[in-house]
Amino acid sequence: MGQGIIRFCISMVALLLFVGSGGSACAADGPVLSPHCFASGVMDVTDPAGESLGSSWNCQTRRAPLDMARTYVRFKLSDDMQNPPSLLVARLGRFEQLTLTVVDDDGAWRSKTMLPGDMKATAKGPYFKAELPEVTADSRYVVAAFDRLNHRATAETAQLYSIDPAFTVARQRDLIVIAIILGMLLMPLAFNAAFYRVLREDFILWHSMMIGAFALLVGVRSGLINLFYSLDLMTWRTMLIWGLGLAAAAGVRFIHKVIEPGNLDPLTSRLMAILPVWTLAITGIHAADIKPLQSLGGDFHSIGMAPVIIICVWALSSALWRGSRAARYQVIGWTPLLVTFSAQIVTQLLPGFSPVEWLLMFYLGILAEAVATALGVADRFLDLKRQRDQARVQARTAESEAERDPLTGLMNRRALEPRFEALRAKGFSTLALLDLDNFKRINDDFGHAMGDKVLCAAAEALAPGDDVLAIRMGGEEFALLLRGPHAAQRAEMRREAISRHVAMQVQGLDRMVTASMGLLEITEGLGDLPFDEFYLRADRLLYEAKENGRNRTMAEAIRQFAHRPRSADRRSGEDRRNAPRIDAA
Ligand code: GH3
Ligand code: MG
Ligand code: MG
Repeated sequence: MGQGIIRFCISMVALLLFVGSGGSACAADGPVLSPHCFASGVMDVTDPAGESLGSSWNCQTRRAPLDMARTYVRFKLSDDMQNPPSLLVARLGRFEQLTLTVVDDDGAWRSKTMLPGDMKATAKGPYFKAELPEVTADSRYVVAAFDRLNHRATAETAQLYSIDPAFTVARQRDLIVIAIILGMLLMPLAFNAAFYRVLREDFILWHSMMIGAFALLVGVRSGLINLFYSLDLMTWRTMLIWGLGLAAAAGVRFIHKVIEPGNLDPLTSRLMAILPVWTLAITGIHAADIKPLQSLGGDFHSIGMAPVIIICVWALSSALWRGSRAARYQVIGWTPLLVTFSAQIVTQLLPGFSPVEWLLMFYLGILAEAVATALGVADRFLDLKRQRDQARVQARTAESEAERDPLTGLMNRRALEPRFEALRAKGFSTLALLDLDNFKRINDDFGHAMGDKVLCAAAEALAPGDDVLAIRMGGEEFALLLRGPHAAQRAEMRREAISRHVAMQVQGLDRMVTASMGLLEITEGLGDLPFDEFYLRADRLLYEAKENGRNRTMAEAIRQFAHRPRSADRRSGEDRRNAPRIDAA
């Protein structure tokens, strides 16, 4: 199974490299302009380009200010542009409205104001596009003014394009790669379904949930979903936030469950148990976009998710330290994603950095995680299965040991009782009880060890086989269960064989060892009577044999207990014929 997954993954990565290596961004894709300066100010409809702000424009920073109601982003147009830009493309975020203004060399400007609902999603990634007012050869600046922007990355990642970046050759190629990654991501779901049928372990379900959330996240974050269904920006943003939140929560839960018991200390285990709830709470608050948190501009989410990463890293490394096998796969799998997310969080929070996106790293990270985790799940599955099989073998061995008499090696009474009905159904309808005669005296005269030898020799004489089961009922009492023709005679032969066998096998005895037997032939219609009923009856016959002088058999064939005879004397003529030998004395 593991090898199959590895082979599949290698061929898929080869395919990705093949697809990924073809084609590069075309010249026809047009120029891409990044922000030149940022500013912040009040929402002034008479100054959509922020020209009155003068020295508050900052062209040294790559960080967008969110301190005032409006955030300005200015793009400088060059004189020798062949394809003037027509679109502003920026990362998803929340804002009240966006005003786009084109300022010409002579100071004239054209402006348009749009609500989030007016903008379209693009399949470039988690980005939207907005059409610019007309840009001509005489245009000098394009200014984007976001009102009440909540995520500075929206302003900082804003770029101008001449065509929708989703339709560039490079992006089309990326989308194919992303679609393949998505397909590969869903593969382990099939394995998990098979695993779960065999091994009903929670971690398999959490892994499936994590993969599902990953797939949602990749489909939504890549913008792939917009090729099929054009989402409005706010729905898209909400799905993106929840996709990430669900993936993180299921991922944390999965890590917690897949690490072998005992490889996490109680405190870390408790923290890991709380984290999914924490993650979902942070996600819900971020998605709801509560007013007092808006001024934090995305920092709230980053700060809220930081403990999740820190605790997971701690849990994995301490489990690894304690020798967890599962943690090894998890560390390999999560490292690329953790590096990506950490870089995003650090660049989001530290001044002097513009937030990095590393989308390709993100997709590859997700894939690495899915592959390593699938291998980890397969490995853990095989490990658990091995443990379970071992436990089963041990249980079976213990069971059979408990059902065997250690002295003679015969089955004991515990083995016979629960199987009695099934054996009867298989045709074992003759029950004989044998008891060695005056056995106590052998113990008394020759010692217990000699008694044991006699018991072993007697057991051998009973010669169990396919159609004869021999059981040591306790002490010097044995039972035979027989099927097939002449069962009573075969039982009698065994009873007689005891004397010969003991004489041959046990040296130093000065007497013949004999046995008495009570034999019961259960002929018909006694379906559901318990073993005890038959045993009691055979024992009574055995007692009669002892009473009548020992070394003999008393037999009876029973059809119904309704006319249960009290003693051997009340046997019918037919029953007498069935008895192999009534008196052996
Ligand atoms: P009877 O002919 O009436 O059956 O007389 P008995 O002496 O055979 O029967 P009794 O029940 O008086 O004695 C059975 C003895 O078997 C008593 C017990 O010490 C002995 N015994 C029971 N289990 C073992 C065993 O495992 N090894 C040995 N050596 N003796 C055993
Ligand atoms: Mg006895
Ligand atoms: Mg006895």
